[in-house]
Amino acid sequence: MEIAEEKEIVIVGGGICGLATALALHRKGISSVVLERSDRLRATGAAIIIQPNGWRALDQLGVAAKLRQTAILIQNMDTMQQGLYFELFDRNGELRCLKRSHLIETMADDIPVDTIRLGCRMLSIELDPLTSSPVLRLHDGSILKAKVVIGCDGVNSLIAKFLGMNSTKLFSTCVVRGFRSYQRGHEFENEFLIMSREHIQFGRMPINDKLVYWFVTRKWTTQDLMVFKDWVLIRESTLESMRGFPTEIVEMIKNSEPDSFILTPLKYRAPWDLLRRSSQKGTVMVAGDAWHATGPFLAQGGSASLEDAIVLARCLAQKLCTVFPSGRVERKMVETAVKGYAKERKMRVVQLCTQSYLIGIMLDDATSTLLKFISIVLTSLLFGDPTAHTYYDCGRL
Ligand SMILES: Cc1cc2nc3c(=O)[nH]c(=O)nc-3n(C[C@H](O)[C@H](O)[C@H](O)COP(=O)(O)OP(=O)(O)OC[C@H]3O[C@@H](n4cnc5c(N)ncnc54)[C@H](O)[C@@H]3O)c2cc1C
Repeated sequence: MEIAEEKEIVIVGGGICGLATALALHRKGISSVVLERSDRLRATGAAIIIQPNGWRALDQLGVAAKLRQTAILIQNMDTMQQGLYFELFDRNGELRCLKRSHLIETMADDIPVDTIRLGCRMLSIELDPLTSSPVLRLHDGSILKAKVVIGCDGVNSLIAKFLGMNSTKLFSTCVVRGFRSYQRGHEFENEFLIMSREHIQFGRMPINDKLVYWFVTRKWTTQDLMVFKDWVLIRESTLESMRGFPTEIVEMIKNSEPDSFILTPLKYRAPWDLLRRSSQKGTVMVAGDAWHATGPFLAQGGSASLEDAIVLARCLAQKLCTVFPSGRVERKMVETAVKGYAKERKMRVVQLCTQSYLIGIMLDDATSTLLKFISIVLTSLLFGDPTAHTYYDCGRL
């Protein structure tokens, strides 16, 4: 097999998790290469809600101060309509909604320019039969041999498959997201509004004085397969489902930015899969959605990915910093570091995925009444304080 290139640390995927991991490693003086299949940095999904635990991680990454300037502090939740969602957010903690492109670009700006390789798709991974080092085959036929591979390649992760994890599963719900830009400024309060009508949930949160993020959670239908990639059709089907909602909400969706509309079927990794399967093999591991994809009901997937990045970089740095100046990565040291990361993160991600899964089951039309009842009982038994997921502190980088 021809070896085109050898690298110490390769991160597959340049989404939130991949970039946060590269940045965290860079802050610790460790270089890496990020392979991203898209030709440009992707910021799919309009905006992202960041809760106190996510802000703690962003503080450690050294980008929180800059990002805070782009997103107002949400000071209130509209409690006119009580419901499941209202219990899940800590009203006293720091809650802001970031434009995804701001988050991605701010992290990328602080990463050395030659770190990110765009338009670079990993096709497969295997272990070298002699050295057990990971070997990656890329879209252009080249081979990349790495000492460490971190799979941040999202919900359909090839690295997770390589590690023996099952495929992610689909809820019967989907989410449409977008944002509306108000040239002269909007008049909404700094609040998180959530409204439900039958099986449809609408959420709205201002990003700044001029930009407002919204989402609609509804049933996924076979028709959605046709509208999936066309923003006009996504808008039409969403407006159709919003009958009975206040006119100002319908108007906001109607006049939203065309390129911000996105329809996403919801995928998750079953909590028992997380418990049973290992997230690492030797020096190959997963992080972010590749490991713990969850429905967005807790709005924690992105923040959990940031936490992964901090813990992983800390664990690697503790073992590697003494070795790196000589340019050699000791395999045993890396394996110990990776095991430490997997151990530290496991129960945190199992908890997040379980809580989110139970909510997903409750909101899912396809769930039987008995299963919904069991989910309610389990939720109240396991998650007495439903906002506890926001208190987590991933610690210092
Ligand atoms: C509807 C919805 C709303 C959400 N809202 C929130 C929220 O408010 N707050 C929150 O914290 N989280 C939220 N999330 C979750 C959050 O978006 C994800 O957890 C987060 O984006 C995961 O980041 P990631 O980097 O792990 O994966 P991704 O963002 O999916 O990035 C994976 C990257 O890997 C690349 N890639 C994949 N395969 C390959 C390959 N073979 N070779 C090279 N590159 C590859 C992809 O192109 C992509 O750029 C939401 C999710 C959804 C679906």
